Amino acid sequence: MIDEKLKSVYHDIVSRSAAQEEFHQATREVLETLGPVVAKHPEYLHARIIQMLAEPERQIIFRVPWADDTGQVHINRGFRIEFNSALGPYKGGLRFHPSVNLGIVKFLGFEQVFKNALTGLPIGGGKGGADFDPKGRSDAEVMRFCQSFMTELYRHLGEYTDVPAGDIGVGTREIGYLFGQYKRITNRYESAVITGKSTEWGGSQVRTEATGYGAVFFAKEMLAAQRNTLDGKECIVSGSGNVAIYAIEKLHQLGARVIACSDSDGYIHDPDGIDLDLLKQVKTVDRQRLTAYAEQRSSATHHTLGSVWSLPAEVVFPCATQNELSGKDALNLAKNGCIAVVEGANMPCTADAVEIFREAGVLFGPAKAANAGGVATSALEMQQNASRDSWEFGYTEDRLAKIMTNIHDTCLTTAAEYGRPDDYVTGANVAGFLRVADAMMAFGLV
Ligand code: NDP
Repeated sequence: MIDEKLKSVYHDIVSRSAAQEEFHQATREVLETLGPVVAKHPEYLHARIIQMLAEPERQIIFRVPWADDTGQVHINRGFRIEFNSALGPYKGGLRFHPSVNLGIVKFLGFEQVFKNALTGLPIGGGKGGADFDPKGRSDAEVMRFCQSFMTELYRHLGEYTDVPAGDIGVGTREIGYLFGQYKRITNRYESAVITGKSTEWGGSQVRTEATGYGAVFFAKEMLAAQRNTLDGKECIVSGSGNVAIYAIEKLHQLGARVIACSDSDGYIHDPDGIDLDLLKQVKTVDRQRLTAYAEQRSSATHHTLGSVWSLPAEVVFPCATQNELSGKDALNLAKNGCIAVVEGANMPCTADAVEIFREAGVLFGPAKAANAGGVATSALEMQQNASRDSWEFGYTEDRLAKIMTNIHDTCLTTAAEYGRPDDYVTGANVAGFLRVADAMMAFGLV
């Protein structure tokens, strides 16, 4: 429920952003937790900080023309939402997926502002992307698309201005093409203008693993707070991209067993535990579908019907995309003995799913907190670039683990302080909000 004092704020947001459902969903979830904050600090209401926070500082929408290998011309739409720079340069990934539209990029950018604040690092929030589908495209086509995209975007970027990274459909290959074009246009080797780079040319150790590893570190802390561990737990990780693969890797290292993962065509069930080397070969080397995994592993079955969430598991990590876990899925999981849900993807659980987990007493780690390891390690990449240094894997992983522990503890302390003990959603929203709001108050009307 949104507090009476904040209802008009929400109505205003909805009326000013018609048909942007994901953005409404993300802002609503935050407003539902800010009632106790404005009761304690009416100065935020007076200064209209929440309205300011919900309005991006700048929105850039642009045409991206490119030609495929047959010479046919395609026109895509590019976006960069520079949402909030109160705490540092805009920071957030680029998503290349046919579903990308303004409402999706705005929801991602809004979430990013809070997430980045929670890391405690000096980064503002932004997000971008294009409705381009890299699936099935040759390397040359992806390169031409990335070059055209950057030919417009470069003028808005800078180490102290706006620093993009990867997201769905944007991995090291795409970051390489994007950075190469930036370097060519500007004639500057400005490493810290983009993160997620290969470690061969300015990237950070652990950045590839960071979001998945970070989500598992967060889960480990959530369970530890209940005097429990991941050791021996049966888990499901949805998706089979960057976040999913490294969540599976860290879960296996910590003694858990992942029995299922998915892609947009279906899911695989492998009761013996996912063979990670095979999964990496299929998804990242061969760039194939999960059916290829099932064909090469006798213990696994591939399912195109039904949901991966119909399987029983104790701890689950939705790591594919927004709204992939519905209320019905949540009921199934709770009924099947699930004790914790940790969001690796951004907003993968629908609002009613989150409510069902809350009512059933299932621990719930929201994306803003649980998947902040990726952007936190991006900020560590910027630090290394600024000092022309590169850190060892173990040292960087240790920094990531400490950041995740801090985020976890901040969420718990803040939730208790604002009257909702153990509610990580409240803890993450309120702690993130306070850090950004205080900086905005200090800067005045800018
Ligand atoms: P990838 O592109 O590497 O992988 C995405 C995975 O999700 C793929 O397996 C893909 O399957 C699946 N997927 C995508 N869209 C859909 C859909 N509509 N329905 C079902 N499955 C889908 O992306 P990432 O792993 O990087 O990102 C996953 C999530 O994590 C996103 O929500 C992203 O915003 C979030 N995230 C990522 C961070 C990062 O560092 N990469 C940082 C923080 C959050 P298929 O191949 O069939 O499309």
